[in-house]
Amino acid sequence: MPRVYGSDTISIGSTKVKVMQVLLQGQSKLLPIVTDVVTSARGWLQAVIPELRGNADPGIKAAFNECFMNPADLNAAMNQARTILQTIYNNLNGSFALKLLDANDAVGYVNRSYKGRIHLVGGVIQYDKDGDPISRRGTIHVGVQVTREDPVLATVTLIHEAGHKWVSLQDHGDKGYYWSECTTYTAPGLTWQEALKNADSYAVFVYKAILAKFKNVVVHGHALGG
Ligand SMILES: [Zn+2]
Repeated sequence: MPRVYGSDTISIGSTKVKVMQVLLQGQSKLLPIVTDVVTSARGWLQAVIPELRGNADPGIKAAFNECFMNPADLNAAMNQARTILQTIYNNLNGSFALKLLDANDAVGYVNRSYKGRIHLVGGVIQYDKDGDPISRRGTIHVGVQVTREDPVLATVTLIHEAGHKWVSLQDHGDKGYYWSECTTYTAPGLTWQEALKNADSYAVFVYKAILAKFKNVVVHGHALGG
């Protein structure tokens, strides 16, 4: 039986974000958190994009090299990343819909272990020709649990999913996902060429760049992991 979703529309700045939730879960208290998550994602991108430049700050360079696997030509890679992040920002800065998914949903749900949302057809994971799981397009999905318990990670997740939706960024399996603490990739082997197409590389870079600039990052009163 299909889930029944209710929706609320929240105004953030001059835009509207439609928030869909499973009915009867008493989650209206999540709306202020969603407002902070969206506002933070926009604010982080706005702050980080101009930092991607020829004479970038050493902390920004270090974060970039870490997330994008020491690209051969740092300036060229930063230029490419800036264009992609600008597109994500432009779209996140408009009106869009966000679906909060229940914690009991199956594979691909964006959860605390931070797997990207996988595209399922009839319950079967879909793969592209390289054998990588295809991430779902369409409405951005962020987990209820991560939104409630870890709004910083929910913000990282929103940027990750926005990268799938608006820039066709991909996932690259374990080597392309960071641990939920945003420390390191969960497996070795990602190349810089892959990183420049990898959703989590962008999302975690934005977080790490903000961290490098501002020392600590809090969303809705929570630091990452708490
Ligand atoms: Zn993903």
